[in-house]
Parts: sequence; structure tokens; C-alpha cells
Amino acid sequence: MDCIFCDIASKTAEAEIVFENDKYIAFLDINPINYGHTVVIPKTHYDNFLTIPSEELAELTKITQYLAGAVKRALKADGFNIVSNNGLSAGQSVFHFHYHIIPRYENDFFMKPRTLEYNDMEIPSYAEKIKEAVSKYEGLLNG
Ligand code: 5GP
Ligand code: ZN
Repeated sequence: MDCIFCDIASKTAEAEIVFENDKYIAFLDINPINYGHTVVIPKTHYDNFLTIPSEELAELTKITQYLAGAVKRALKADGFNIVSNNGLSAGQSVFHFHYHIIPRYENDFFMKPRTLEYNDMEIPSYAEKIKEAVSKYEGLLNG
């Protein structure tokens, strides 16, 4: 399969690696939103947030928490965004699951996404649709 992040994980493509263990690797994003923008991935290929096994997601999230603290301290950032784009419409461009750690500074001009407003009728109707799907698949949580 042609995947740039698999190539980085197997060292057949170069990247500026900032952390690595046997299952996970983190490196600098080649087109950073702010300098030090870091990408954290499992070495095994999973397309997205829904297809990575939950145990590995938990391990990856723990490592991302640790790395976010390191990035913030090292770059004297005021804050950071943890971002995961899933699907073309959400801006995913590399279909190998990853977290972005984006260091943030006051007034760094990184735009916030637009927000909408609900009317009174819409709020319960959206919640109802989601709750129906939640109850249908609740078994997955415990199983
Ligand atoms: P996505 O758009 O899928 O959420 O994030 C993919 C990220 O991978 C992008 O921010 C992009 O700049 C970064 N990226 C794409 N190709 C490479 C590469 O070859 N090396 C590195 N270091 N980052 C890459
Ligand atoms: Zn891959």
C-alpha cells in the first residue's frame, strides 16, 4: 500500500523524528501550522479514528498527552490543539490515523472554525438521531 506515514514508520521515508518506541512514532509535520507542529502515529496502518483498535488508541492518546506537554514546555507555547481529521470532508489528507499536536500562542491568527446556531426545534432532533445511534451500538462499548 502506498502510504507516506507507513514509509516514515519503516524509515523508508525521512522525517524529523521526536519520539519513537516499538509501536508508535512522532515527527514534525512538513507543513506546520505553527513551528513544532507534531504528528503522532501508530506504526501499524489504520485508516482513521474509527478503525484503530481501542487499546491502541488509548496507548497512542497517552503518548500524545505526554508529547503535548513536552512540545508546550520546549516551545514555550501558551496552549496547543490536539486535532484529528477524519475523512476527506474533514480535511484528512493522509489516510493513516494520526493526532496533530499544534503549539498555540496568543494572537497567532490561526482561525477558529465557523459556528452555527440551532433553532429550538433542531436541538432535540439532532440529539435524538445521535442517541438512537448510540443506543444501537452501545454493546461495542462493553464488548
Ligand atoms: P491530515 O491532513 O491528514 O490531517 O494531516 C496530514 C499531515 O501530514 C499534514 O499536515 C501534512 O503537512 C503532513 N505530511 C504530509 N506528508 C508528509 C511528509 O512526507 N512528511 C511529514 N513530516 N509530514 C507530512
Ligand atoms: Zn500507513
